Amino acid sequence: MSMDWHSDPVLREDLIRDYVHRRLPDYLVEQFEAHYLDCDDCFEELRATELLMLGLGEPILERTLVNDVTVLRFVESAQLLASSLELTELANAIRLQNDTKVLIDLSKVSRIDSTGLGVLMNCYCHAVKNSGVLKLLNPDAPVKKVLSLTKVDGILQSFEDEAAAIASFQGLPA
Ligand SMILES: [Zn+2]
Repeated sequence: MSMDWHSDPVLREDLIRDYVHRRLPDYLVEQFEAHYLDCDDCFEELRATELLMLGLGEPILERTLVNDVTVLRFVESAQLLASSLELTELANAIRLQNDTKVLIDLSKVSRIDSTGLGVLMNCYCHAVKNSGVLKLLNPDAPVKKVLSLTKVDGILQSFEDEAAAIASFQGLPA
């Protein structure tokens, strides 16, 4: 009974819609959460539904241009974890554009995990592939610690000051 949604696409669509709208009873939330974390199929379906809803709602990532540097910042507090939508947003914001100078403002990011780090590194590689540069602004203490422990901070340069960060891009080819 509990896994009916997995094999029934119509049932699953209803379940996921209710889940995203937080209309599911607690026991079903628990069952579904326990399931989708181990099921790529259901996880993808959930992610697609969330993205669809997000496309209709308020953006969570803001893109501004300062000189010729693209600055990306989260509108509200965010987490860059495997399960968080913010991560998908960030990855798409980078991958769907070919900006060469990118500064990601991490000041509103409270947590990051290995998936989050992986996405940051992918974004960096994407920028480099476009002969660009990607840097970080204002990582919060917990995030800074993770960047340092994993030595990612040796690859991704971080700045505390936005003006200094923007200035560091000057002299690089546009
Ligand atoms: Zn499933």
